[in-house]
Amino acid sequence: MNNVPVDPLLKEIASYFTNRGKQAYLVGGAVRDLLLGKKAADWDLAVDARPEEVMSMFRRVIPTGIKHGTVTVVYKGVSVEVTTFRTESGYSDGRRPDRVEYAPSIGEDLSRRDFTMNALAARLPSGKLVDPFGGAADIKSGTIRCVGRPAERFSEDGLRPVRALRFASQLGFSVERETLDAIPGALGITAKVSPERIRDEFEKIVASGRPSTALLLMEKTGLLELLFPDLAQCRSIEQKGCHRYDVLDHSLLACDFAARRQYSQTVRLAALFHDLGKKPTLSIGPDGNRTFYQHERESVRLSRNILRQYRYPNAAIDAVAHLIGEHMFHYTEDWGDAAVRRFIARAGEENLGELFRLRLADAFGTSGAEPAADFLLPLINRVEDALSKSRALSLKDLAVSGKDLIASGIKPGKHMGIILNELLEAVLDDPALNSREKLLEIAEKINKRYYAPSFP
Ligand code: ATP
Ligand code: MG
Repeated sequence: MNNVPVDPLLKEIASYFTNRGKQAYLVGGAVRDLLLGKKAADWDLAVDARPEEVMSMFRRVIPTGIKHGTVTVVYKGVSVEVTTFRTESGYSDGRRPDRVEYAPSIGEDLSRRDFTMNALAARLPSGKLVDPFGGAADIKSGTIRCVGRPAERFSEDGLRPVRALRFASQLGFSVERETLDAIPGALGITAKVSPERIRDEFEKIVASGRPSTALLLMEKTGLLELLFPDLAQCRSIEQKGCHRYDVLDHSLLACDFAARRQYSQTVRLAALFHDLGKKPTLSIGPDGNRTFYQHERESVRLSRNILRQYRYPNAAIDAVAHLIGEHMFHYTEDWGDAAVRRFIARAGEENLGELFRLRLADAFGTSGAEPAADFLLPLINRVEDALSKSRALSLKDLAVSGKDLIASGIKPGKHMGIILNELLEAVLDDPALNSREKLLEIAEKINKRYYAPSFP
């Protein structure tokens, strides 16, 4: 394993450097992926040219991280990150290196990198490997191992422990003993890492093929209690009846199921957090019966807090919270058509697919067995039937608007919203009422109620 195959376009880019007597190496994840026989996701180059020089060499260059010696070259539609050889020193806040110094050689550049599997370079254009730390052998055996002494490397940057576990989930590799053992001692450093950097790694864990690998290692090393204490505290919360697992294992199984089925990140996060509220709402009756009354509301609150803490965009937070808030539906055959319409109206037609996927994951997490293929079919059939008969399922589907109400003589104000919602309820009960004439009639009756004197 002395060479990796080099894409012709990459050779072409590298020639800009080599023609000027400069060195260029493919580094980081791309080399790792090529050694694993995968296509590289994106290309990172390490070069001995300074950023200003690189900027003068190509027509389109974006100074994406000039402070860290990085620019992005856009060449024939492909973006390549190009970083000048560097060393790093002085991590006074456990976050980012205080200053960046350029290094004279690729060897020095590789020695600052986190894991042996990431401290490999392929010389361009030949693809000849530079592997000073035995990274190729570690990739072959599936081992995540720090470059140098783990405790020291973790003390320089507290994100590295999280990255180690992220790679374990992503690649299915195991974390070498000494590297794993150094994590608990570095928790104080990890606590100082910015929430955005933690989020980016957490996102990759959740997006991986098996999130539980990292999350269980996080639990074992104390990272879960540090970064996601509400999740860590789901351990040993036993459930009743059909549940085989405690709340943490249940949540991990649900999340793994969602990952295995390649469900969206929203469903995966909802699966992981949907039962966070069980611990705070647990109550044990005199008969020993366990209940978690309205736990989904508490799950919504806690998951919103977590996602906000890690600076998720509001739209992502809302999407996850909505699924969690609606995850407790219990369909039975005796639901009338109005109940089916109410269910659709609450969940939102556009969210039903995601909600059903969350339910499948939840069911898997309960029994540990694949849900039957027709598990949700009776409800799905009813939903399709209801949708084919009536599409009046939200305020915007009503045959009248607020403007129509005002035009009909109803005073604008707060109760207008209440009237519209009552009209929607009426239409959910009986879709035949969704005509302008009938709704205005009902609206007038409701309006009178508001203006009826409440005392003699
Ligand atoms: P992927 O892009 O597939 O997630 P990657 O290995 O490319 O994986 P990046 O986060 O893109 O990971 O980082 C690129 C390279 O930079 C890594 O391979 C590693 O050599 C180095 N690196 C990244 N973060 C750190 C860090 N916190 N400490 C030391 N080296 C790091
Ligand atoms: Mg990368």
